Amino acid sequence: MAKVSIVKCPGYGKQEEVDAAVRNALDLIGGIERFVQPGQRALLKVNALTPKPPEAAVTTHPAFIKAMVREVKRAGGIPMIGDSSAGIIAGQAPTAQTFRATGIEQAAEESGARLVNFDISGVEPVECDGPVKVLHIARPVLEADVVISLPKLKTHSLTLFTGAVKNMFGCIPGHRKAEYHRMAPVVTEFSEVLVDILAKTKPALAVMDGITGMEGNGPSGGSRRDIGLILAGEDCVALDAVASRIIGIDPFRVLTTSIAHNRRLGVGSPESIDIVGESLENVIIRDFCLPSTAFLERMPRFLLRGVFGMLKARPEIDRHICKGCRFCVESCPMTAMKMVGNVPEIDYNKCISCLCCQELCPGKAIEMKYISPVGKVVGGIIDSNKKRQRARLSDKGEEEWKQE
Ligand code: SF4
Ligand code: SF4
Repeated sequence: MAKVSIVKCPGYGKQEEVDAAVRNALDLIGGIERFVQPGQRALLKVNALTPKPPEAAVTTHPAFIKAMVREVKRAGGIPMIGDSSAGIIAGQAPTAQTFRATGIEQAAEESGARLVNFDISGVEPVECDGPVKVLHIARPVLEADVVISLPKLKTHSLTLFTGAVKNMFGCIPGHRKAEYHRMAPVVTEFSEVLVDILAKTKPALAVMDGITGMEGNGPSGGSRRDIGLILAGEDCVALDAVASRIIGIDPFRVLTTSIAHNRRLGVGSPESIDIVGESLENVIIRDFCLPSTAFLERMPRFLLRGVFGMLKARPEIDRHICKGCRFCVESCPMTAMKMVGNVPEIDYNKCISCLCCQELCPGKAIEMKYISPVGKVVGGIIDSNKKRQRARLSDKGEEEWKQE
């Protein structure tokens, strides 16, 4: 039976409150001493996806990271903080910028942890049976005595949800992440790769920053949402299953959870998970906004097969919002984008709808649009539901969302 703790934490404002909540979450599953022994090098794999400030709720919050560093030190461990950001700017992943912009660099300095940029720390080839036959994993991850996943609770337009399992994708440095998207262009294959990375990096513990998360078109283009929770567990799959239930997603609709469960790398079924701390019923969020692509996940598979062709969506750029920064063009794994004047153009013959461009666009200028007439009608219904949901979330009246 896997154990997952749920603890309330109202915000990041008071470091001592975050420290206490993180410690409480860990104590409920046996305490940090169960996972980190004196003298061990503990690698905290944070989410440093893109260079956004902590209040954007894209990356693991610095106050949360500091609390985890304190816990590792309290157990006598040697803390390291590491990640590799997504996307490419000027030929390389923007990890150094991300560490600065997100406050992670400062958190490392203030708490006395070593900061490790996986883009420049070397890689080790690791053989695999999945769609990617040799994974190149950042060396510090493989050399650490203990690996701890510190994900942010967010939706994800491609994988529906991102948590402790998907967080480990950042152990793949720089441009290789785009390469793996290219080698595993279908979401099922890509999820297999994510589970392979989980199997090879073997996190001993996951502690999720769900104090503020992201809803809508995550993992970076959605809206921040105050959730007020921290989750901890030694089974990344079980932790993701509980977190996805909190935001209203059936755990087995999350491919990384179902694949990892079937491969016995963890458990995703509710009857195999012992939830301690807050009860699940008390913390479920009934109006959490899922990605616009999520409705496909709710459809019966046979129906999905029949109408999927008609509902095919592709990324489109809003020329009025685009700032011409080229981030998407440089990061597209299929080199399907090029600048025409100040705005990118997409070659749809090359595009695999991996949504990396939408994920990385700092200006939220890329939206998934349905191509066929049927798709456009369905897309219109979804957009209208999104407005209705936004109105509900912000306590606006029915009339107001109609006028948007
Ligand atoms: S255009 Fe966007 S969705 Fe298409 S392959 Fe490139 S990054 Fe992926
Ligand atoms: S679409 Fe977004 S990422 Fe691409 S150039 Fe425009 S602002 Fe930059």
